[in-house]
Amino acid sequence: MDADVAIIGAGPAGIQAAIQSSRKKARTVVLGRSGGSAISGTELENYFGAGPVSGDILLERGREQAEATGAVFVAENVGSASVEGGVFVLGLEGGDSVRAKAVVIATGVSRLKLGVPGEKELFGKGVSYCAVCDCNFYRGRRVVVIGNDSEAAAAAELMTGYASETHWVRWDLKATEAASKRAEGAGAIVHGSRPVSIDGDGRVESVTLEDGTVIPTDGAFIELGARSAADIALDLGAMPEIDDTLKVDASCRVAGVPGLFACGDVTGRPWQVAKAVGQGCVAGMEAADFAKGAKG
Ligand SMILES: Cc1cc2nc3c(=O)[nH]c(=O)nc-3n(C[C@H](O)[C@H](O)[C@H](O)COP(=O)(O)OP(=O)(O)OC[C@H]3O[C@@H](n4cnc5c(N)ncnc54)[C@H](O)[C@@H]3O)c2cc1C
Repeated sequence: MDADVAIIGAGPAGIQAAIQSSRKKARTVVLGRSGGSAISGTELENYFGAGPVSGDILLERGREQAEATGAVFVAENVGSASVEGGVFVLGLEGGDSVRAKAVVIATGVSRLKLGVPGEKELFGKGVSYCAVCDCNFYRGRRVVVIGNDSEAAAAAELMTGYASETHWVRWDLKATEAASKRAEGAGAIVHGSRPVSIDGDGRVESVTLEDGTVIPTDGAFIELGARSAADIALDLGAMPEIDDTLKVDASCRVAGVPGLFACGDVTGRPWQVAKAVGQGCVAGMEAADFAKGAKG
């Protein structure tokens, strides 16, 4: 299949990029299995003009909008990528390939898991991976924030403004002194032992630490960072950052590879739909212009 713009990833960033690209009359294809987006199965309450709203409904409506303007969706992930004579060639897992003049990488991130009993079973029942997203649900309740870096410290600090009691569990401290002090100064109760389980009968009730401490709680926020799916960029000649994200300029261009753009979570924090959609808008328009020769 030939396209002007190929978008890898059918989450909010990729779908918004498709809406913008196809409205500019660029032949646009969106590649990726459905269901893999970070907002699948979630409820958003901080998205402009639409909260609370189901992530799956946003994805479905977005896809309909993109299809209505001509974008084509192929429900297969990209397994290989190369540049041949200035054209991007993307290999799909089913064996077909797509040739495109411009590519938008919108592959998101995968949140790092703690890997303890109860984490998976109680996900969405008190286990959360996003304090910024879910803080309001824990107004006046007790929470445990789990993580070692400055982002975890910031999450603990944030939660002190909502929860009646905030515990910050960190066992391999990597947060800056300033971030740690802000969390502690805001009232977070610090524990220095690794969590070994998240417990509860149908909902989170406590977090147990290696040193035997049991912290009664209503929520467990796992703030360990994320791994991005930026490998495709390497194959296309772009170098991901040390944290595996893709650095982009204000036009969402990836440095060093003309015609390559990125948007959404894969470009780094904040991991929020509003930012993903904003960058998707820019990337889609810029990629369409590039493919049609309007910009070099
Ligand atoms: C539990 C949870 C709750 C959240 N709640 C909120 C909230 O309330 N508010 C908010 O603003 N944000 C929230 N977020 C964050 C939000 O989901 C993300 O910021 C947003 O989904 C990012 O969009 P994206 O398109 O960049 O990535 P994603 O939505 O993750 O989409 C990336 C897509 O790329 C696909 N992909 C990956 N590799 C390939 C490949 N090789 N080929 C093809 N496709 C590929 C993935 O399968 C996926 O479909 C939440 C996240 C989580 C995990």
